[in-house]
Amino acid sequence: MDIWNTYVLARVNIRALVHNYTLIRAVAANPAPVVKSDAYGHGLAEVARAFFAAGARCMAAGTVEESVVLKEVTPAAEVISLLGPLDQADYTAVCTHGLIPFVGRVEQLVRLEEEGRRTGAPVRVALKFDTGMSRLGFAAEEANGVADVLDGLEHVRAVMACSHLATADDPEQAEYVSEQGQRFAGILRVLHSRGLDVRGSLANSGAIFAHPGLHHDLQRPGIALYGGNPFFGTVWADKSAGLRSTMSVSSRLLQIRTIRAGESVSYGRTFVADRPMRVGIVAIGYADNYSRTLSGKGQMLLRGQRVPVLGRVCMQLTAVDVGCVPEAEIGDEVYVLGGEGPRAISADELASWWGTISYEVFCLLGQNSMDYVK
Ligand SMILES: *Cc1c(COP(=O)(O)O)cnc(C)c1O
Repeated sequence: MDIWNTYVLARVNIRALVHNYTLIRAVAANPAPVVKSDAYGHGLAEVARAFFAAGARCMAAGTVEESVVLKEVTPAAEVISLLGPLDQADYTAVCTHGLIPFVGRVEQLVRLEEEGRRTGAPVRVALKFDTGMSRLGFAAEEANGVADVLDGLEHVRAVMACSHLATADDPEQAEYVSEQGQRFAGILRVLHSRGLDVRGSLANSGAIFAHPGLHHDLQRPGIALYGGNPFFGTVWADKSAGLRSTMSVSSRLLQIRTIRAGESVSYGRTFVADRPMRVGIVAIGYADNYSRTLSGKGQMLLRGQRVPVLGRVCMQLTAVDVGCVPEAEIGDEVYVLGGEGPRAISADELASWWGTISYEVFCLLGQNSMDYVK
């Protein structure tokens, strides 16, 4: 999205993305980067080109529409659509662009068969099974039935079987990961015994680092590629050590003022100074997806120093305490994510003030104007 009436700028470091991809490939044999939701807010086209150049030959987008864009950007890569086809336009696009959709309902197989017959194109699908998320996919018990359906189809060929883990990033819930892993192994056994030549794919970022026994043929890293630590705040936090931050977001300082003890800052007077203070006004707010939840909680980075948010985050403005940065000047760049030096703000840290996870921070802040650093 190009937003022109704000000073907020997101920057994506392409070299850091490639570094993370390379680090993951040292642990997992065949990672297929997940670039859904505009590459977790980082920008689909630029990110996909970078991963392809780094060696990725299979990538996964979200909707069929997004997968078509991905295929146009990297025509030589296999392109998975994680959400699979819904409308007629999706079924047509799967065939004309040779996408590999996740398929978790018999109706989708039947409609893809019709489309394959109409266009004469072979249709490859990834069979999606639910092993414990209660979200998309066939039930584990349907594996034989799905094989029966496929036996009757001429144009549709299953090339992958996939499932998704609910707790791979949680040291306290490793037991559930094993249960899902066993269920998935059972599904693969059924499909292989029925003569289906499917590659297995189960591992997300958490499983790539914490559950090497569940890597199967193809892994699907998302957050780790973007520098988020899947194990942030747990005893496993070091398992994904070495990942680099990929996104930074900054805005500018519009005013600096001194307030007296007893004076308040922003709407609702939720912050009242108990001493004279220097307050900096930064041009970012909830309209830029800097959440109002960060009111009185967040920190920003100004000239390498942490400056705490004072009072409520407004639509386009947020106040910070610049007392520890006497050299601050109007126009200074202020980071809400990333920044230079040892006090740079990580996505996981920002997410913890925000009451969410790095995934949501990237998706939301990534909707600002974006620049790429090679
Ligand atoms: C988003 C997603 C992934 C990637 O998960 P991360 O936790 O970001 O690594 C993998 N598989 C599916 C089906 C997904 O939707």
